[in-house]
Amino acid sequence: MQQVTTTPNQVTIAVNKNNFTHDMIAKTGAFNASILSEKVKFGTFKHFGFQSGRNVDKFADFPHETGENGLPYITEGANGYISGKVISSVDLGTHTLFLAEVTAGEVLSDAPSVTYDYYHKHIKEAPPKKTEGKKGWVCKICGYVYEGDPLPADFICPVCKHGASDFEKL
Ligand code: FE
Repeated sequence: MQQVTTTPNQVTIAVNKNNFTHDMIAKTGAFNASILSEKVKFGTFKHFGFQSGRNVDKFADFPHETGENGLPYITEGANGYISGKVISSVDLGTHTLFLAEVTAGEVLSDAPSVTYDYYHKHIKEAPPKKTEGKKGWVCKICGYVYEGDPLPADFICPVCKHGASDFEKL
C-alpha cells in the first residue's frame, strides 16, 4: 500500500487477482488494511497470507474488531489499521491497482511496523533443508519451491501470492 496524497488522504493498493480479498474489494468497494507490527506471530502470516485464495472467513477464529465500514481488521500483532473507499481501479494483468480515499484509521500500539527484513530475521521459521540437492527457486515468504530455472519474471507464488522478486535461488 502506498500513500498518494494527504489532502485529500488517498492511498493505492495492488491486489493479486487470485487473492479472495481482491473479489471482496471489487464487490464492496471498501477494505481495511491492518498494519502488522514487530510483535506479529508467524501464525498470523500463515493464517492470513498463505490462504489468500480461499473463500473462507479468516477472521472467524482470530482476534478482530469491526471498522466503521462494517469490515473486520485484526487487533493481534497489528499496530494500526486504515479503512479505504475505492475511487478507481486500474487493471494491471495479474493485479488490480485500487486508488482509495482513507475513510478511517486508528493507532493500536506503539510497536514498530514489521519490515520484511525483520520478518526474515526474527519471525519467519527457517526454511526446511529438504530443498538440498534441488535446483530452482524458493519463496522467501512462505518456503514454496519452484523447481525450474529461470523463474518466470511474472511468476506468482501459488501459496502466498507474492511475486518473483520475493524468490531466491536455491
Ligand atoms: Fe510464497
